[in-house]
Amino acid sequence: MNNPRLCYLQIAIDTPLNAVFDYRWECDPAERPQIGQLALVSFARREVVGLIVGVADQTDVPADKLKDALAVRSQLSPLSAQWLALAGFAADYYQRPLGEVALPGLPKNLRVLTTVALDRALKKLAKVAPAHDPAPVDMPVLNASQQAAADAIGGQQGFKPTLLYGVTGSGKTEVYLQACAQVLAREPEGQILILVPEINLTPQLEGNIRARFPGVMLATLHSSLSEGERMLHWLAAHHGKARIVLGTRLAILSSLPHLKLIIIDEEHDPSYKQQEGLRYSARDLAVWRAWQLQIPIVLGSATPSLESWHHAQSGRYRKLELRERAVQNAVLPTVKLVDMERDKPSDGLTSRLVAAIKQRLERGEQSLLFLNRRGYAPVICCESCGWVSECTRCTSFMVLHRPEHRLRCHHCSLEMRIPRHCPTCGNVDLQPLGRGTQRVEEGLQAMFPEARILRIDADSTRKKGSAQEAFDTVHRGEVDILIGTQMVAKGHDFKKLTLVGIMNPDTALFSQDYRASERLFAQLMQVAGRAGRAGIPSEVLIQTRYPQHPLYGAVVHHDYDHFATALLEEREQAALPPYLFQALLRAEARELATAIEFLTMARDCMEHPGITINDPIPMTMTRVYNVDRAQLLVESPSRPALQAFLKEWMLTLKEMKSRVKWSLEVDPLDI
Ligand code: ADP
Ligand code: ZN
Ligand code: ZN
Repeated sequence: MNNPRLCYLQIAIDTPLNAVFDYRWECDPAERPQIGQLALVSFARREVVGLIVGVADQTDVPADKLKDALAVRSQLSPLSAQWLALAGFAADYYQRPLGEVALPGLPKNLRVLTTVALDRALKKLAKVAPAHDPAPVDMPVLNASQQAAADAIGGQQGFKPTLLYGVTGSGKTEVYLQACAQVLAREPEGQILILVPEINLTPQLEGNIRARFPGVMLATLHSSLSEGERMLHWLAAHHGKARIVLGTRLAILSSLPHLKLIIIDEEHDPSYKQQEGLRYSARDLAVWRAWQLQIPIVLGSATPSLESWHHAQSGRYRKLELRERAVQNAVLPTVKLVDMERDKPSDGLTSRLVAAIKQRLERGEQSLLFLNRRGYAPVICCESCGWVSECTRCTSFMVLHRPEHRLRCHHCSLEMRIPRHCPTCGNVDLQPLGRGTQRVEEGLQAMFPEARILRIDADSTRKKGSAQEAFDTVHRGEVDILIGTQMVAKGHDFKKLTLVGIMNPDTALFSQDYRASERLFAQLMQVAGRAGRAGIPSEVLIQTRYPQHPLYGAVVHHDYDHFATALLEEREQAALPPYLFQALLRAEARELATAIEFLTMARDCMEHPGITINDPIPMTMTRVYNVDRAQLLVESPSRPALQAFLKEWMLTLKEMKSRVKWSLEVDPLDI
């Protein structure tokens, strides 16, 4: 007998099992649940919230195996078909079950709150708007290339990605804002999604946006919001109330029913790649999302990724250029190389760099010292027996953190007090080897006791809000010398900064990773770009043992174009991305041999014409937290061929039910 009140909900659940699960649901036929709604169900003896992806009159599941859904969250309007398609694409492309992609991106509170609590939270939406709108600020007059870029983007209809290639300080932000203004004016309900690579960059841009668009509701989405805030902002976007959504990579999966423009600032930044769990590229998903909706997308950078540069060269992307700095009289800083063989550093600083800092102090200008290594020293050692502070759980060293009196492993967080004597021979004279930001800070403070020195790195900014406080101190001019890791290299508009010293970039020159030179170049150009932004002549000093290296030559000449073109040629000749597509299968086990054995079996378990599968190898950092890790690189010149192979391969591997923990990464950045 057909019961008109009965239907079957196909529900995606956040679990590694691939399937969508059927549940029974009885309701008035007029109130049938809709695809895109959330439902509460019991799964593996727990109550979980799943996503309804189908509503059917029949099911193949035998009646005695079928459970009833517990509730349907009807107070939340359904996620749109387009959003489901985005999640579906990501699941397919990255070879993960839909539930694992779609559900973790939703605010936790939507998944755990009771119905009553959910009702209450909707009502709070107004809070997302600022309590007092700041006074509106006039738009500055754009220069000709900014105006041309803003008009080209703002006036665009349809899908064609734009690479906004503009030197550091060329005023890309202004271009984004004016393009936004045009879209907001033209599309009465239109929404705009803006992504930045780091949480630390959201306040600067958030301030700009609020000042510029006082009446417009802005939602922010990043990992430092509380769960309550996160849900409010997510809902504001989902209900179409927030016209601008600003966030880090996780915001790419937010629900935006009226999305009309996507902006990806600093598109080259590796932070757009999620490096655990679902290893997606927010930039790549953004391009897909724009294509799906047939809307414009802007990828902005002074040092575009080779992938995007390649697309711009081939005409797939439109390239818009800003060749000059925006502020009157501001020019790019002079970049000079300091030969460390001739000018031997003491305390890590060459005499040339010390003299330059001294000069800035006398003039009341700011200096930035960039060193991408936190802690005091990367390792301590015993000179009499050769003992070094290795981590007992990882293939790495315990880093000396002197102010905290600790040794710390940066990979597994193992911590211990600094030993008083050598654990092997008893020698009491243990020496720090190499230097990190803390040691540089100590050396500078001794050299310039009067100077106001501030260190910004992951250690100095652990407390919530402390990073923002530190950046504000720099902006207020209360710092003479800033020492920092890559945290300070990106995006910041420090107006009084006229000297950048780059302490020891050489190690990256000889890395095995073929992307290392692309990254080093981008990093040097970005950090150099923090200097001289307000029109005061400025310089960048790079300390190196290899002043002849062509990479440094390109930085000296601010010559991204030639450098990128040469790198692309190299990649084409060597058959590397973007001319080749890759995926990486990783396995972990207590013993390396077990991981390698699994990967060998994975390599041999299937025919794979047109696909190259390399030999399994241990990862460079083999052991982390007592687990050994190995990897298998899979390559093909054809993306569809690789995708088709991966799909079948994953099914085969899942059926094997191996006890080895394994995961797949599509388009890996670190191999
Ligand atoms: P980018 O993101 O390209 O590095 P920003 O957008 O941070 O550069 O702009 C650099 C500086 O130039 C900022 O201080 C900004 O206020 C200023 N600026 C941008 N456009 C103009 C303009 N048309 N006239 C004057 N100043 C501008
Ligand atoms: Zn010893
Ligand atoms: Zn460790």
